[in-house]
Amino acid sequence: MSKTRPEKKKWDVSDIQKWGPGRHEKGATIPESGNAQDYKTGGWRSERPRRDREKCNDCMICFFACPDSSIRVENDKMVDIDLDHCKGCGICAQVCPRDAIEMMNEIKACKLEEK
Ligand code: SF4
Ligand code: SF4
Repeated sequence: MSKTRPEKKKWDVSDIQKWGPGRHEKGATIPESGNAQDYKTGGWRSERPRRDREKCNDCMICFFACPDSSIRVENDKMVDIDLDHCKGCGICAQVCPRDAIEMMNEIKACKLEEK
């Protein structure tokens, strides 16, 4: 028996500003998938991951574990963390086998980086 994917729901949001509560889905209306990259969601963060370059061996485990695709990689090396989108969940710090990522209070981290 073959299964087919259900048709992707298409939204006409041209008049979304006029929608009342009756036309929105429960919770929220998300008119298209993959739109998180258009929004800088790093402002939600209360803790910031900081990597110790000396400890990191570019194993990429954090890259695969990050739910926000916020580990930046170039030429098979971890280059930095995309702080515009990282939400500070701490998963990268938990999975790092070399304890190379430390989670730090966001305000303290900002002050340190200003110096
Ligand atoms: S998991 Fe740790 S050692 Fe591996 S790339 Fe990430 S920070 Fe570096
Ligand atoms: S704290 Fe969470 S969102 Fe930020 S880089 Fe680590 S795993 Fe990704």
